[in-house]
Amino acid sequence: MKNITILGSTGSIGTSTLDVIENFPDDFKVTGLTANSNVELLVQQAIKFRPEIVAITNSEKAKLVSSRLKGKKIEVVSGIEGLIKAASFEKADLVVSGIVGSAGLIPTMAAIEAGINIALANKETLVMAGGLILKEAKKRKVKIIPIDSEHNAIFQCLENIRPKFIKNIILTASGGPFLNLEKKFLKNVTPAETVKHPRWKMGAKISVDSATMMNKGFEVIEAKYLFDISFDKVKVLIHPESIVHGLVELIDGNFMAVLSRTDMRIPIQHALTYPEKKKGYLPSLDMNSIKNLSFKEPDMDRYPCLSYAYRAGITGGTMPAVLNAANETAVHSFLTNKIKFTDISRIIKTVIDKHDPVSNPRLEEILSADSWARKESEKLCF
Ligand code: NDP
Ligand code: MG
Repeated sequence: MKNITILGSTGSIGTSTLDVIENFPDDFKVTGLTANSNVELLVQQAIKFRPEIVAITNSEKAKLVSSRLKGKKIEVVSGIEGLIKAASFEKADLVVSGIVGSAGLIPTMAAIEAGINIALANKETLVMAGGLILKEAKKRKVKIIPIDSEHNAIFQCLENIRPKFIKNIILTASGGPFLNLEKKFLKNVTPAETVKHPRWKMGAKISVDSATMMNKGFEVIEAKYLFDISFDKVKVLIHPESIVHGLVELIDGNFMAVLSRTDMRIPIQHALTYPEKKKGYLPSLDMNSIKNLSFKEPDMDRYPCLSYAYRAGITGGTMPAVLNAANETAVHSFLTNKIKFTDISRIIKTVIDKHDPVSNPRLEEILSADSWARKESEKLCF
């Protein structure tokens, strides 16, 4: 029996993780759940899965959760301290890091410091503080298993491959909902059109990141840290069918790839059962029905966020954290109708151009660069 704590249990990754857990009742037990503000779903999940601890960021809402869970022997905690307590709850064998955005960094770090293995969906953690996270994980002998579908695929490809045999790692990208839209129309797309992803059903923020391809840019940085590989060996290909999730090109001309249906429960099941494998409960990919698998290089002019991510990643230090904070602020402003879709990349460029990065930053320096970038971005979001 593996004990699992889910950070961000009420989100898209969180609910998919609980679906996997529900299908393997003899293998997994839920020890902790966390949410930001969705009281109703958190309470329903707690009643169904009986964790020992639940955390909700908002302290007023925590009172409501406590009263709804009265007599159920579930500890209810709140605020960032509560989140840290749930993330580092010692009975967990694995923490699923499924909070969205920079809010995931501190609790993920807390779980690592407590020596608990991580199934990582929250890529922003590695974008902001990849160096520190990897260092701490190594020190505590913590295993980080990627849930992000591309990295999960590459992780599986690399299991028996020596690093010196790798020529390139290739992340596939769907190209998002506007892949075939003429560039001149991008400035008028609405938030509702943007979050309607053609292949994946995800939270709002990552759906916007997918449309700008900042998501892929973050994934390039994520891959650099997870697989300890230089940026010139991390490539991106647009693959609209989203069937091949990740590829590894080897020096002898062979390619390895992982193919599956576009359903996050597949990489989540892999990460939860790792290093074992369990018979899947979802329908398998019907190879016979696949008519076409196409790949093409992304046009950096159309997807400037991807090039900013490479630039920030290569610069390193506090620059990726600034990239992330500027993106988070701009995406939030776009989703609340304050700016246009095309303003997102413009704002990010202005802020990264202005930043003087600190190299080998400590956590405080990363957090201070993050708040500087938020303030700078907010000035541009109107
Ligand atoms: P969602 O928006 O669906 O869910 C986010 C979760 O985080 C919710 O449980 C939410 O709680 C919680 N949360 C939000 N803000 C805070 C905060 N300030 N403090 C604490 N908790 C918070 O996001 P996704 O599930 O789509 O994405 C989660 C992460 O996984 C992201 O980093 C994303 O990039 C990554 N990812 C997602 C994929 C997907 O298919 N969705 C695929 C690959 C990676 P509440 O519900 O109460 O607001
Ligand atoms: Mg991905």
